[in-house]
Amino acid sequence: MTTDTRAVRRAALQSTVDIVERRIAAACAASGRPRADVTLIAVTKTYPASDVEILAELGVREIGENRDQEARTKFDALSGQSLRWHFVGQIQRNKAKSVARYADVVHTVDRVELAEALARGVVSADRPRLDVLLQVNLDPAATGVIGPRGGVAPDHIADLAIAVDSYPELRLRGVMAVAPLGGDPNEAFGRLAVISRELRRHSSDATLISAGMSSDLELAIAHGATHVRVGRDLLGAR
Ligand SMILES: *Cc1c(COP(=O)(O)O)cnc(C)c1O
Repeated sequence: MTTDTRAVRRAALQSTVDIVERRIAAACAASGRPRADVTLIAVTKTYPASDVEILAELGVREIGENRDQEARTKFDALSGQSLRWHFVGQIQRNKAKSVARYADVVHTVDRVELAEALARGVVSADRPRLDVLLQVNLDPAATGVIGPRGGVAPDHIADLAIAVDSYPELRLRGVMAVAPLGGDPNEAFGRLAVISRELRRHSSDATLISAGMSSDLELAIAHGATHVRVGRDLLGAR
């Protein structure tokens, strides 16, 4: 990248970061929450490592990725930087070992076999405990264990939480969800808040709520989100 191209991209990202920061601050103010309650995760999927580097310069150091190979490549390219890597995509069991090597937080644990595979990955990577969130399927029709876009059905969360807690390599930190397509995000995030409260009665460390994307971060913050995952409105359309 030429110096000019980088300067142009930096200016563009500076501007979108400012806008998103203002939206988060306003949403926090509107619900009487301190700004420090909410962490911005920049979801950099499909965008190059150079963008991650610029975001870090601009103070955005929490990075989200949804595909193992792409995430691993960027992690390796940027290993000297102090970044926190959030894995927000669905994980096939055979990718868990790889994800466990570089992820700081895995947002998408939705079945026991995945928890088990991640725990084994933590052992083989010889690293400290891995923070995990349970991905909840908020589709109102969710009855099975896992929905098509991932996520455990609400009535299976308690069992999954017990299973995750049984692995000393994993630390259950909370819940994650995507508002259902075509559904009412207000209702969905409200339900997620109730689910989070219920989970915290048994797992006191499970205080995180990962919810809200470019289109609905204000609503998620109003319902208690502690982590918003923003791609498009920071980096551009994919
Ligand atoms: C891509 C993605 C995001 C970011 O979505 P935008 O609409 O681009 O802000 C958030 N969460 C998950 C799980 C994603 O895959």
